[in-house]
Amino acid sequence: LRQGLDKTRRNLINQLKAIVGQGPLNQDAVMEIEALLLQADVGVEATDYIIKALQSKLREQALPPEQAISYLKKILRDMLEQPFVESYKRTFAPEKDTFNIWVMTGVNGAGKTTTIGKIAHLAVKSGYKCLIAAADTFRAAAVEQVKIWGQRSGVEAIANPGENTDPAAVVFDAIAAAKARGSELLIVDTAGRLQNKKNLMDELSKIRRIIDKKAPDAKVEALLVLDATLGQNGLRQAQVFSEAVKLSGVVLTKLDGTAKGGIALAVVQQLGLPIRFIGAGEGIEDLRPFSSYEFVEALLS
Ligand code: GDP
Repeated sequence: LRQGLDKTRRNLINQLKAIVGQGPLNQDAVMEIEALLLQADVGVEATDYIIKALQSKLREQALPPEQAISYLKKILRDMLEQPFVESYKRTFAPEKDTFNIWVMTGVNGAGKTTTIGKIAHLAVKSGYKCLIAAADTFRAAAVEQVKIWGQRSGVEAIANPGENTDPAAVVFDAIAAAKARGSELLIVDTAGRLQNKKNLMDELSKIRRIIDKKAPDAKVEALLVLDATLGQNGLRQAQVFSEAVKLSGVVLTKLDGTAKGGIALAVVQQLGLPIRFIGAGEGIEDLRPFSSYEFVEALLS
């Protein structure tokens, strides 16, 4: 992870160390830290929050460099974690002995297919019986790609033959197949067309209705796959998705490709959603369940 976050870390930590190395943290230093956080795409709101927390500490005492950094780490950890303590209890989230359905949403190109493949791999490795519903029926290639990703870890993708089939019908079949096979996790791929918000909403809510009807006991998550390299633009996309479907968390991808990994803090602060996984590479192993401790250490050590 440290390597994955290298671009963000290098920018951030060296300058931070230089700032706090100048002596006890004073107001000027706090301003410089503010600029650094904004540069890393932490976002205005989250930066504000962090700076206020730092300043209130500073009113109590001037901080020597080591303490300043570790206090900053604590602020970031608390920010990422506190609203969602429940979600972060487990390292890998699907509940055992429960039928879990994870609906994966996100705009094309965000890394949805790759993420589904990585999650399927992690699920199999962690001892779960897993199945994929190839319900992005809009893109001709999407079904094939998700199948290929599934095959890499022996996970089958349920699809309907023919183009432009009904995504909800695929989900219907996939739930039946998952139940028949005793699958514990069904990962649902969905179409990522942002251009037409009404279609997106209709499609996602139809999928949700099928799930509620066919699998009322399932534990359902709706995860948004978000490209970290888009920075604040990604947050605007996220807003559209959260209007279309009740999201339960975010998978932040491509953290390895950006110096703006601070977006993780903005996601939590602005969207009020927990980060469930982070993707930091194109390989099947390059996905980690999110840990605020690990993330902050990777960012600031
Ligand atoms: P989709 O259109 O949302 O299904 O996106 P894909 O899964 O096809 O991914 C789009 C591109 O992003 C591909 O070239 C992936 O290899 C790449 N990608 C996905 N996740 C990551 C990641 O965590 N890091 C990097 N560097 N590339 C990624």
